[in-house]
Amino acid sequence: MARTALVTGGNRGIGQQVARALALAGDGWDVLLAARDRHKGDAAAARLRKDTGGRLRAIELDVTSDASIATAAGKLRDGAIRIDALVNNAGVYGVARGPGGVALTIETNFFGPLRVTLGLLPLVADGATITNVTSGLGALDHLDAAHRQLLADPALTRDDLAAHMHEFVRTGGKGWGADPYGVSKAALNALTRLLARELAPRRIRVNATCPGWVRTDMGGRGAPRSVEAGAASVLFGVTATETGGVFRDGRRIAP
Ligand code: NAP
Repeated sequence: MARTALVTGGNRGIGQQVARALALAGDGWDVLLAARDRHKGDAAAARLRKDTGGRLRAIELDVTSDASIATAAGKLRDGAIRIDALVNNAGVYGVARGPGGVALTIETNFFGPLRVTLGLLPLVADGATITNVTSGLGALDHLDAAHRQLLADPALTRDDLAAHMHEFVRTGGKGWGADPYGVSKAALNALTRLLARELAPRRIRVNATCPGWVRTDMGGRGAPRSVEAGAASVLFGVTATETGGVFRDGRRIAP
């Protein structure tokens, strides 16, 4: 039976390659290519349908907007869609220097996956996977000792974590020992662990996967890894049997 995957930020870069690989996989994926710009999403889906002959279609979804997520969820519900794999890939890097950049980084890279996961959760099938695309820059050893301890604390709750992220934005992204991008991904790794625990009763596995440093618009032309290699590392999460871990190339890089 065909299974459905939804990939955010699917119109270019690693997300597009994840969508392409799923469309080509022999095990029957229907791919929802989510993009914040409807035209870019439609163009990418048409391109990938032509390249792969697979079943892909675009859906408009801005991960920073509750309204956009609710609209997307409504359309999927009307189409009786169940999601078997959610890939929270959309992200931004290097915007933190501009005005509002700290907020944009945290809103997109941390609250984005949280918002999308909670907004689409009623449509996510029991036994599904959720993959949060993280970065090596989110490793705990990039943070100061106090925040390393905070994120690793087994007593940390999702509400605590969200409150700390709001506070980080309010204080202009200072005081954690790392830049906002690194903090956003470190917090995303912690969120992954918390969501894995919350969703275990529904057998939903939640993992974070790092693509490595990849030649995309974000990674730049000098990056050592191809988009295919980066996407393959991310795709591990789609079929992972583990839950709550951080992986690169199928190897656990954090608890
Ligand atoms: P990219 O080429 O810059 O593509 C980013 C994608 O995210 C685009 O599709 C973009 O859409 C989308 N996006 C950004 N903000 C969004 C929003 N508010 N709502 C919906 N979509 C949004 O980046 P990439 O290299 O493919 O990176 C993909 C993921 O891998 C990110 O989470 C990134 O942090 C992570 N990562 C990348 C590297 C690397 O070396 N490239 C390394 C580690 C981790 P638009 O086209 O509309 O802008």
